[in-house]
Amino acid sequence: MDLPRSFTVREGGHRIHNPFTDGKLATLGRAIDPPPGTRVLDLACGSGELLCTWAREHGVTGTGVDISTAFLAKANARAAELGVADRVVFRHGDAAGHVAEEPVGIAACVGATWIGDGVAGTVELLRRSLAPGGIMLIGEPYWRREPEDRATVEGCSAGSRDDFRSLPELVEHFGRLGCDLVEMVLADQDSWDRYVAAQWLATRRWLDAHPDDELAEEMRADLTAGPLRHVRYQREYLGWGVFALMNR
Ligand code: SAH
Repeated sequence: MDLPRSFTVREGGHRIHNPFTDGKLATLGRAIDPPPGTRVLDLACGSGELLCTWAREHGVTGTGVDISTAFLAKANARAAELGVADRVVFRHGDAAGHVAEEPVGIAACVGATWIGDGVAGTVELLRRSLAPGGIMLIGEPYWRREPEDRATVEGCSAGSRDDFRSLPELVEHFGRLGCDLVEMVLADQDSWDRYVAAQWLATRRWLDAHPDDELAEEMRADLTAGPLRHVRYQREYLGWGVFALMNR
């Protein structure tokens, strides 16, 4: 089980695989201010930036689980680079159904709620690992503007309007799931660009270096259409944020 290679072409240079900047990730860490020694479980941890930087800044320890061997290799390298390799562990595997061996103070799924078949299922999954009084972190898109037509829905990689909620609908949903929303840090259009526009240059450089690769045609089509799709749809209509939740 691994992530398709097209993701590593586009995002191989990213430390954060979401419309979040280093600054926003650090802001979230400071907002939550976990006590040193807090155990963290990060499901679909990607390249491990949350765990590695929070281990350095806040002294947390933790485990990340992801299916991407390429991202996990980067996560381990990052842990060594930041001097936190003794505090974080990265495991290759399916995060769906993954429950911590010991309850954790922070259970996160940032930008991968499909592992729980949506927000409700992911909250249920994270709850199974959470120590009493612990915090769940959910990273999730929301409609910034109501999509006007089918092209907009598809341009935002949604199958239907109801794949995402508006921000008020999402906050209501957390309440209905029995959660207090206790903090949030939202992406903005500039941080969307750091995530998406950074993929264009990575793709272009990869195409120039690998013109005969079996993925070249797909990546070329991606680069030709991607920028317009981003500015027309995603950047305009889709918001994204990390929401900190506690059980009521
Ligand atoms: N949370 C990270 C990565 C988000 S991108 C960050 O914010 O940077 C989504 C991640 O989900 C990718 O790293 C991908 O490899 C991982 N992923 C997708 N399906 C998965 C699954 N079933 N189990 C574990 N990881 C998964």
